[in-house]
Amino acid sequence: MSAVLIVAEHKEGMPSKATLRTITFGRDASEMLKHKLHLLVIGHNVEKVAEQLKIYGADCIFLVNDPALETYKAETWAYVTSKVAQQCNAAMICTDAGSTGKDFMPRVSARIGAGMASGVIGFDGECFKREMWAGSVVARIRLHTEIQVATVQSTLFEPATPAGNSSEIEPLHLKIPPARTRFIEFRKTESKRPDLPEANVVISGGRGLRNAENFRMLERLADLFKGAVGATRAAVDAQWVPNDLQVGQTGKFVAPEFYMACGISGAMQHVAGIKNSKIIVAINKDENAPIFRVADFGMVADLFEVVPALIAAIENTIE
Ligand code: FAD
Repeated sequence: MSAVLIVAEHKEGMPSKATLRTITFGRDASEMLKHKLHLLVIGHNVEKVAEQLKIYGADCIFLVNDPALETYKAETWAYVTSKVAQQCNAAMICTDAGSTGKDFMPRVSARIGAGMASGVIGFDGECFKREMWAGSVVARIRLHTEIQVATVQSTLFEPATPAGNSSEIEPLHLKIPPARTRFIEFRKTESKRPDLPEANVVISGGRGLRNAENFRMLERLADLFKGAVGATRAAVDAQWVPNDLQVGQTGKFVAPEFYMACGISGAMQHVAGIKNSKIIVAINKDENAPIFRVADFGMVADLFEVVPALIAAIENTIE
């Protein structure tokens, strides 16, 4: 029987929230296609990750646990994924459309000669759905290859809930060829704030912030909500914040309960990355700014008055 195979992402021994969301997508696809649902965990000392995924109703969890997989390399992950996909008769291979998935999945598709759809937002049993032109149109994409490869815009899906049964874990021992790429170092961004795609609250700033120093007040506001700080490309290009904070079409997609846009005009490329937020609040001094078209609550005001007042009000309620 054919299968839908989901490649799990993990960090510090835990499956990512994006993986749980991708499982929701994969479950629906496997039900529509009447295929099995398999998960794949790749890495070294990652048995704990596979254990934690046992409750999500997969038919099988393949575990490729090897010292050669200690550090992530697109080359080796693509090799392992394509081998496992062939062994388990996968008809569809998916993973989250984050930076890792964007990196190794095109190589999987090239290795096995499979068609690929990237950043998909749905599957109707025949075609993938994918937004184009910053979300202005939704394309239906039919792949005619035997195996279909997709990266999934996982923020659109709820994290999978436990399915009751306990999946089998099947360790696989593959001979992993030496990589042509060499791992040099992993520079972790030191932050106590949540990752943008996983945050429940995101406070973002744009060109209206004027400089890097003014982002400190957004950080304070985000910390009061235990949220993340985001930015527009304009703020990133001006080097006020690092580029991993960029939200939007060419940055990160977010789907928090609460998104606050401060001094952001609402260009379509930015809005593409925030429109799955549950509540959007905008502060902009220009009443015609396009951000007000997508905001649930808008304030035509100077952010340098509103944001400090908001911080002071919240601090007062905490004390
Ligand atoms: P602006 O458009 O300059 O807006 C600043 C806003 O701040 C204005 O509306 C102004 O009224 C307001 N303001 C100023 N002072 C104050 C104040 N004191 N109080 C309140 N409001 C104030 N952009 C992204 O964000 N993410 C992307 O991923 C992205 N990808 C792109 C991909 C491509 C291919 C292209 C062409 C562009 C992309 N962009 C992206 C850029 C995008 O088109 C916009 O240029 C950018 O989002 C604008 O950023 P901004 O809103 O900060 O700046």
